[in-house]
Amino acid sequence: MTDISYWGNSRVSGQESELQRCFARVGAEHGFTDVNANWERFKEFKATWKRCSTSAELLITDYMKESGEDLITDLARGIFGRMGRGGVKEIYSERLKQHFLSPEFILRNQPLYLRRSRNLAYAQQGRVHDLRTLEQDLHDLGLVKRVPHAYISWTKGDNRQRVGYCSVIMRVVAISRVLDRKEIPSFVPSYVLYHELIHLENGLRFGSYHDREFRERERIHPHHEEAERWLRRIVADPQFR
Ligand SMILES: [Zn+2]
Repeated sequence: MTDISYWGNSRVSGQESELQRCFARVGAEHGFTDVNANWERFKEFKATWKRCSTSAELLITDYMKESGEDLITDLARGIFGRMGRGGVKEIYSERLKQHFLSPEFILRNQPLYLRRSRNLAYAQQGRVHDLRTLEQDLHDLGLVKRVPHAYISWTKGDNRQRVGYCSVIMRVVAISRVLDRKEIPSFVPSYVLYHELIHLENGLRFGSYHDREFRERERIHPHHEEAERWLRRIVADPQFR
């Protein structure tokens, strides 16, 4: 990564200097004298950092680019808090969590996230199973609540190891195309979709995503046991490769 001097450089955007300003200020509160923070086009919402004694270099998800100084400062506090030994583990302030739930955040960032997702089919209707129908059935059964702006799609590839995926923050659920076959009963993709929709409904959580409450809720699905058996078979059976 190149070393960018951000002060007095008119070519550097105002947003970048805002990021740098926030992180340098919060870094200083944590004893860092040399902080260099830049936006990065990560697919996932994340930040990475390298630290060496009192200097830190950070790459921050550009999904925060329009979030403004207060929220960027909150994120900086969370990250520096986590960098310090024995510091806070919870990275997001309440204000940040509210921001992630706002329509502005999701309407700006979800399309960006979808463009960066290389493995999505961008389709709910599969060759055999329709995710919209499966989702509707789960709602009709009262198993999950509707989450606004949720985007659901089949994947392009047949991933057997990871049959479902959910980005809670971007409200995107992907179901592996390996489950979209006529020999696989619809309750199998329904069950995996249910699992991912519970994640969406639960939102960002501090601690384990698959806690006891989650597992208990998962078991409410009418085909829980059969679906689990199917999934074990799909992982093990070469015919699904
Ligand atoms: Zn899960």
